[in-house]
Amino acid sequence: MLFSQVAECFAEIEAEPSRIAMSSKIAGLLGKCSAEEARKLVYIIEGSIAPAYEGLEVGIGEKLAIKAIAQTTGYLEKDIEKEYKLVGDLGSVAEKLIAKKAQLSLSSSQNTLDKAYGAFVRIAKLGGAGSQQAKISLLAELLNGAQPAEAKYLVRFCLGKLRLGVGDPTIIDALSMMRHGDKRESEQLLRAFNLCSDLGEVAERYILGKNLSDFSARPFKPIRPALAERLSSAEEIIEKIGRCAAEAKYDGLRMQVHLEGKRVEIYSRKLEKMTHMFPEIVDAAKRLGANAAIFEGEALAYSQKEKRYLSFQETIQRKRKYGIEAMAKEFPLRLFAFDLMYKDGKDLTLEPYHKRRSMLEELVRGNGTIVASEQIIAESPQMLDQYFKRLVDAGLEGIIAKDLNQPYVAGARKFAWIKLKKSYGQMADTIDAVVVGYYLGKGARQEFEFGGLLACVKNAESGELETVAKIGSGFSEEEMRSFEDMLSKIKVSQKPAGVVSKLEPDFWVEPKYVVAVAADEITLSPMHTCGLSGGKGYALRFPRMVGMRHDKSPDDITTTAEIIRMFEIQKRRQETQAE
Ligand code: AMP
Repeated sequence: MLFSQVAECFAEIEAEPSRIAMSSKIAGLLGKCSAEEARKLVYIIEGSIAPAYEGLEVGIGEKLAIKAIAQTTGYLEKDIEKEYKLVGDLGSVAEKLIAKKAQLSLSSSQNTLDKAYGAFVRIAKLGGAGSQQAKISLLAELLNGAQPAEAKYLVRFCLGKLRLGVGDPTIIDALSMMRHGDKRESEQLLRAFNLCSDLGEVAERYILGKNLSDFSARPFKPIRPALAERLSSAEEIIEKIGRCAAEAKYDGLRMQVHLEGKRVEIYSRKLEKMTHMFPEIVDAAKRLGANAAIFEGEALAYSQKEKRYLSFQETIQRKRKYGIEAMAKEFPLRLFAFDLMYKDGKDLTLEPYHKRRSMLEELVRGNGTIVASEQIIAESPQMLDQYFKRLVDAGLEGIIAKDLNQPYVAGARKFAWIKLKKSYGQMADTIDAVVVGYYLGKGARQEFEFGGLLACVKNAESGELETVAKIGSGFSEEEMRSFEDMLSKIKVSQKPAGVVSKLEPDFWVEPKYVVAVAADEITLSPMHTCGLSGGKGYALRFPRMVGMRHDKSPDDITTTAEIIRMFEIQKRRQETQAE
């Protein structure tokens, strides 16, 4: 397949607001691919060259891209920079300049998808002395053989700024459309993806005609994490799932540990590899009674001096301050394991919770560093409530109730797990929102360029980001400085695709950073677009920043439906209080 065909399709997708139409265009393109090409194409659409958990970035900076464009077109770097300042997108600059060059042209060999992908991989793997020049040459070579529109996407891709607005669900729909949208097949595709987090692999197998119904979890293919629903009381939980397990909800760092033989890898909630940061967990995993396992837990650092576990925020802060080795000594970690998804060749994700739990207890017995999360079986709402109160009094966040008979629901928020958390102010919980823009400082804050954040939740149905809060407080001076620094690097010239907003911040940014936000309550406001209806949306009243959630990606944030549910819970509480 020629890369110009890919570019043509990308241009159509960019101009296409409908998700279904995007899927059908991608399906058309995938239909022309071999299985191997499909794998590469899927990664490229995702903006990468490998599944996200591999953490491989093409990593060409703007300076290098400018040099490559200069080398190909003969324009001076300073003129390209000037044009870039004007247009705000180096891809468009490359497109324009290559179009001019084409008039004089120089026919050279055309780029294929394989060739472009191969060059991207080589660029990503280059490092050390002389690597910069080699990267420039590789990109320049691709640009040499490129049509103008192709050049635009090649440059954007290498800069990590492809941003087609195509999420994984759209790609999954595209795959299923290739076989006329058979519902059972589309569920199998989703399940396969949830079990391996590698949509390229799923696409390749699917196009090869392999059966996806027996797809199973495997070590070193991270499973998309199960998520918890929320309810507002022990009564509601028992009413929903009956007699259940209740576990302590630890406010730590979620980890998915994969073990096979002597190899151990640890993945974050966002499925990024973080093995090297936790040597003590790696050692402990090797001492478990299994040759191979995939399990999940929440890691907390223990302060020897203060004789208590540190929260997620504190753990992260101390890690930055102390470094990995000193941290392991001063604040040893303990991993509270709460699920087992694979053991010694067997996928356990479809087994009921109670069975996975007893196998988990057996697995970690006597380990010391990896222990099973605290758990009871709650027979009644009273029992559940008592347990909740006891844990909250002991300083924990709350509980997670678990349906004894449910499988491990990879990648989805289902009532298999239900969280009950202590309240934060009037609002029953903090929410996780993605930053889409920021405001400049005013008054006393003028010293800083940063004055506040515009934050969104996600409408899971439309895939759009809807504004829910303008956050102006809760920041320390250090946080303000670091926000200014972080956000100025991801500024974009206009409202990012997929953001629905009535507010116009001083700067829009690429939706990347997730923040935990507390508030007094949820209200209706004409200014915000979350769950917009009758001109009003849901909004946080007196929102304040609680902390960054570097462990969460924009895909994991609170949804509009959850905000509406929280609003209803709040209304019910207020009504009971008034009675
Ligand atoms: P939240 O982040 O508030 O949606 O709550 C769900 C998170 O609680 C999960 O992603 C886990 O990181 C964390 N968690 C803490 N303890 C447990 C537990 N015992 N079982 C499952 N998840 C837990």
